[in-house]
Amino acid sequence: MAVQGERTFRDVVIESVGEEIFDCYQCYKCSAGCPISFDMDLLPHQIIRSVVFNQKEKALSSKTIWICASCETCTTRCPNEIDIAKVMDVLRQIQVESGGEAKEPRVPVFHQAFLDSIKKTGRVHELTMIRNYTQKSGDLKEKLKSGEWKNDVKLGMKMFLRGKLKVMSPKCEGVKEVRKIFKQAAEHKKK
Ligand code: SF4
Ligand code: SF4
Repeated sequence: MAVQGERTFRDVVIESVGEEIFDCYQCYKCSAGCPISFDMDLLPHQIIRSVVFNQKEKALSSKTIWICASCETCTTRCPNEIDIAKVMDVLRQIQVESGGEAKEPRVPVFHQAFLDSIKKTGRVHELTMIRNYTQKSGDLKEKLKSGEWKNDVKLGMKMFLRGKLKVMSPKCEGVKEVRKIFKQAAEHKKK
């Protein structure tokens, strides 16, 4: 239970997504339109419900927040203008900051590899990102063991020959500005 004056899990989510979340009347429109709902353990309307009821563990331990594709179909369909896609994003952020194990641990590793690549060069360099992801996620070990790496190499060669993969990271003129954004975001997080 929260100490008086202390921000609860629900308060933190509401700070980012607004009080509209209390308008949810569980109409199910968000869940009915979600293209990933078949693989979710909690449907989008249930995630919203768990936030409204301040059920932190339930929301953060769900697989749903990691497999959500951020397509925003749910947000578009909501009659009460609740930004459900943003709720998912905020929940992922809270989960990462809490340092706990994610239900789908490879997703945050991929997310971090993606951000690291952008921070370094100002845009995604696919080869660097894939190398970092496969090393940190444990995929590399598994692929070496199963022999699946051969398929990856074949696919990589095809993409390279079609100009879809660059060996060296292309120069990005706005890299300084991009790094500034990362710095500001890190400072904002400390507040
Ligand atoms: S569409 Fe909106 S109001 Fe309906 S259940 Fe989803 S979040 Fe709630
Ligand atoms: S944003 Fe996520 S929860 Fe919403 S419809 Fe798309 S995949 Fe489903």
